[in-house]
Amino acid sequence: MKLILLGIQGSGKSTQGNLLSEKVKIPYLSTGHIFRNLAKEKTQLGRYIKEVMNAGYLIPDDKTLEIVLEYLGRPEYKKGYVLDGFPRTVNQAEAFIDGVDKVIYLEVSDREALWRLSYRGGDNDEVREDETVRAVRKRIELFHTFTEPVLDFYRKKKALITVNGEESIEHIHREILKELKK
Ligand code: AMP
Repeated sequence: MKLILLGIQGSGKSTQGNLLSEKVKIPYLSTGHIFRNLAKEKTQLGRYIKEVMNAGYLIPDDKTLEIVLEYLGRPEYKKGYVLDGFPRTVNQAEAFIDGVDKVIYLEVSDREALWRLSYRGGDNDEVREDETVRAVRKRIELFHTFTEPVLDFYRKKKALITVNGEESIEHIHREILKELKK
């Protein structure tokens, strides 16, 4: 099964993605993680990605597609995946013809996400250099501009599941499983 998780930063995508991956036994993959790892490399690409991420901007579509498609071509993702954070633009969605089964949108208000992010850190997430308030605000703004149209793209394909991301972790997990009939 090929699943996609979308939501603004702080919506709980990685928490729900990991729970879901465990439950349905398919690997979890986050484009944010991929890019954060690349950003640690002392190469021209690494430095470029670090700069773009820390400013809160999106990595350009052609680079993103090249990197994500290379990952998804690996044998461990052949049977399926829970993909967190991709596609984030309609261009990416249109270029991504991999037979997605369902797209789960974790709906959280900007206010709630900002509140959560200002109290995050320490437990399951590493302290992130790209989480300055300014970068987070930029990312939320970019979500509305570029990723909301992606939700419409999948809604029209009848693949979109919208879940209230402001409930408890367990409740959201159960809702997702119910929608997926798992
Ligand atoms: P995330 O952990 O999903 O919030 O991603 C962190 C950062 O990685 C984003 O702010 C972008 O700079 C970059 N990124 C992750 N996924 C994508 C994507 N699909 N397209 C472009 N940039 C991305």
